[in-house]
Amino acid sequence: MSINLSNTKLGIIGGGQLGKMLNLAAHNWHLDTYVIDPNPYCSCSTSSIQLTEGDFMDYQTVYNFGRDKDFLTIEIEKINVNALKALEKEGVKVFPEPRVIELIQDKGLQKEFYKEKQLASSKFILLNGKESVLENIKNGAIHIPFVQKSRKGGYDGKGVHVVNDIQDLEGLMDCPCVIEDLVDIEKELAVIVARNHKGETNAFPVVEMEFNSKANLVEFLSCPSDISKEIESKAINIATSCINAYNMTGILAVELFLTKSGEILINEVAPRPHNSGHHTIEACITSQYEQHLRAILGLSLGSTLLKSPAVMINILGEANYTGIAKYEGLDECLSVEGFKLHLYGKKDTKPFRKMGHATILDRDIEKAKEKARFVQKKLKVIA
Ligand code: ADP
Repeated sequence: MSINLSNTKLGIIGGGQLGKMLNLAAHNWHLDTYVIDPNPYCSCSTSSIQLTEGDFMDYQTVYNFGRDKDFLTIEIEKINVNALKALEKEGVKVFPEPRVIELIQDKGLQKEFYKEKQLASSKFILLNGKESVLENIKNGAIHIPFVQKSRKGGYDGKGVHVVNDIQDLEGLMDCPCVIEDLVDIEKELAVIVARNHKGETNAFPVVEMEFNSKANLVEFLSCPSDISKEIESKAINIATSCINAYNMTGILAVELFLTKSGEILINEVAPRPHNSGHHTIEACITSQYEQHLRAILGLSLGSTLLKSPAVMINILGEANYTGIAKYEGLDECLSVEGFKLHLYGKKDTKPFRKMGHATILDRDIEKAKEKARFVQKKLKVIA
């Protein structure tokens, strides 16, 4: 087989930070990349990336963008799938496959898929809005506590409402939704797994997410995770079964709940590079971005071996600051051994806006966590 990578036109839908990091990996191979995003100041608006300004929810815009590309991929799921289906029919190689993106865009369809494929996930029902949720509580079909999720459009916990008691019913969302059992979570884990055209798969080591209960945000993402070998291989097997069930090409980030009783349940998936794989840039032999490229271009998958334990932290805008971003304490952080900085090029900071991330490498995961705590205390994004 021969392939001319620098003559291969790759279109990426979405110009956020994941798109930027995917471009950086693609540039190592000198692929000819093009990005579309509605925001002319998005993370991909650097001189080295060919950016088209356009709304990726619009059929004609996506269709026009994709027509002359050899390959198309995504860094976000909220896009016009019908345009991708039309392009696929015309011979553009679209990965992940549009039918997979369509299914994953809707958390209701995702849950039905897991049920049909007998992949373990929390119990659920699908409802139309607030009134039907209240009716189902009255008739005993739903019991408090439960979790309400908007079927479409949610991200980073937006579109998720936990009902622990009667007072929480006030905050119910009025939209088509999934009502799930509230899971008794011991740990939140994630596995990124890749699958290429030949159906070969390879998973990255399991990552553990530690949440800040006050801010309801991921505080640390650490790898290796503090779980038994048995749970680790169970999590990897579930993620691999999941990507095989989707019969898809590319990488799939599988978010999992390890329950207090030792079960592993699929929470949700994303068929693209994911926040839970940022650390792979420095910590693994192959990054999630390179792996995605290998998978979609029909190449052999790379080794996912962990070179060093790592902790990833998001760099968020400080509360109470809005305006042109300044990074306080950055130089002290740069003097920490194993500290690697990634900034997303967002000019303005806002409270809790994701401005970048840092990966901290150390042979000892506990030391990496200590250093990550130091960075969290020192590094402030202010205006
Ligand atoms: P998003 O797509 O916005 O990230 P998720 O479905 O991942 O939404 O939910 C966000 C968070 O809400 C999860 O990381 C978890 O902490 C909590 N959560 C979601 N579903 C459940 C559930 N069924 N039981 C308990 N907690 C849940």
